[in-house]
Amino acid sequence: MTAPSGSPVNAFTVDVEDWYQVADFDAVIPFTRWDDYESRVQHSTERVLELCDDAGVKGTFFVLTWNAERHPELVRRIVARGHEIATHGYAHRIVYEQTPDEFRTDVERAKKTLEDITGTPVLGYRAPSFSFTTSSLWAPDILLDLGLQYDSSVFPVRDALYGLPDAARFPYVIREREGKKLVEFPITTTPFLGRNLPLGGGGYLRLLPYLYMRWGMRRVNRDEQQAALVYIHPWELDPEQPRVKTAGKRGFSSHYVNLASTASKLRRLFRDFQFAPMRDLLPLA
Ligand SMILES: [Zn+2]
Repeated sequence: MTAPSGSPVNAFTVDVEDWYQVADFDAVIPFTRWDDYESRVQHSTERVLELCDDAGVKGTFFVLTWNAERHPELVRRIVARGHEIATHGYAHRIVYEQTPDEFRTDVERAKKTLEDITGTPVLGYRAPSFSFTTSSLWAPDILLDLGLQYDSSVFPVRDALYGLPDAARFPYVIREREGKKLVEFPITTTPFLGRNLPLGGGGYLRLLPYLYMRWGMRRVNRDEQQAALVYIHPWELDPEQPRVKTAGKRGFSSHYVNLASTASKLRRLFRDFQFAPMRDLLPLA
């Protein structure tokens, strides 16, 4: 089945990070030891690019800039295949665990490095682990200062680690100052029994049956006539990645669950819905 014409076009996004650069591994593989681990990000990102090429999908790749410094050719390859480059910050530090000055330094370095590699302005930012919460409400002001035009870090759900449960569910101007605007494209949810269920992608796509994702996306596209946003990590398409024991941030980790099913779910998603990069979907300056 293909997406019905006239249906809203959704955002496809990729957080380009390696298998160990995740919050669940913070305690066992700290930032200072990243260089000690096998880099698989080029290989796993190539899998995402192939799936996109097969389906004719273009998306936005939020590159963790520590990786861009080591693999600038990967960034150029993503651009050459027609996708947009945005930033996932430099060191994958949770926003609400940083001071505003540390956050500014991280994003400034991340944005400049990517712009030097691609020769194109970086318009968008996504926080590690969706860490825009009531403890980091200062962050959008800094993104506006740094010349970003959109953000995609707000997850309107109630969760122990992230979320702004009462935030708007569809794109809106989150900050506006001196003629400059920062547009927020929240991670997609669907309301059910008085709360927002997460759709999004990532772990939710991996752990839950595909039909859940399709049900939710159809509710957003058909019933609400709104664009949804899907995200994925390249390591979620890499079942052969090394195994490291971690208790995660929740006392358990779902990192290795259902890795082998991600590619087929993504293929179905690409077949059932239409996708485009963020820059083509948002009302930017
Ligand atoms: Zn991330």
